[in-house]
Amino acid sequence: MAVVAAGGVFLLVKLAQGGGEEPTVAAPPTVTTSVRPTTAVPTPTKKTTTTAPPKPVQINPATYNATHRLYKTGAMRTVNCKQAKTGPGNGAQASAYFKAIKACLDHAWPRQVAAAGGRFRSPGLVVWGGSVNTPCGSGPGRAFYCPTTHTIYMESPSVIAFYKQNPTFGRMVGSFTVAHEYGHSVQWMTGLGEAYEKLRYDATTDGQLLLSRRLELQASCLGNVFLGSNRGSYGITGYAYQMWLYDVNNSGDRPPYPRDHGSTTSHGAWSRAAFAARNPASCNTWSASPARVS
Ligand SMILES: [Zn+2]
Repeated sequence: MAVVAAGGVFLLVKLAQGGGEEPTVAAPPTVTTSVRPTTAVPTPTKKTTTTAPPKPVQINPATYNATHRLYKTGAMRTVNCKQAKTGPGNGAQASAYFKAIKACLDHAWPRQVAAAGGRFRSPGLVVWGGSVNTPCGSGPGRAFYCPTTHTIYMESPSVIAFYKQNPTFGRMVGSFTVAHEYGHSVQWMTGLGEAYEKLRYDATTDGQLLLSRRLELQASCLGNVFLGSNRGSYGITGYAYQMWLYDVNNSGDRPPYPRDHGSTTSHGAWSRAAFAARNPASCNTWSASPARVS
């Protein structure tokens, strides 16, 4: 049986300005960024998986996610992650760039996952363009995490295009996207993802969208906990900070996409809070009011 599961991020960006060189002005480029809701949902009947089985969910999954130990694991310690010197200017460079930050994430998350009662396993990373063959679909045009294979599938052409138009913005989009998808892998390593699947199975259509927004906003939140804890060493300061801020403040659902990732307002709020707090305690989207995950 095909198992379909993808937390997808699709970034559609148009730059009205920007050349191949680092901009010398601090003003953000004119950018339209949308995180496209493309979360195909795992079939609840799945019996087998190649990933480590998440911690069994033995209580109400809504309560489980809203009271998870992950929120009590404390601030994330910096791993002094260094951003790759060479940016994602072509396919090979993009692969190296994504692998570099993924290696940092592999150092940052084990303590937090273990403290949350999960079992850490480094997720895989596949960098692709065009389409990719996975149990979660071919994901044209978007990055996604597939729980079935416990692998992050990073789509590189869009990041390369951003980089060529605005190198700093391209770096921040690529870094944030890997961190976001890694956040999904943390959700599935800690049982949050399994609980989401259970909740979704019984939900109405609107309820499913709400659950998807909680899942996606949490993934971005977790990603930004990591970026915030490494902001100094990674160089998310000055103009790079402005480009990071622009990205997170302008990522979110836009018409006519379904409302499954959260509004740009919601996305920015969770992202900024996480970056400042550097603590998964700031990422409890499951107990948040619907207004905060709109
Ligand atoms: Zn996602």
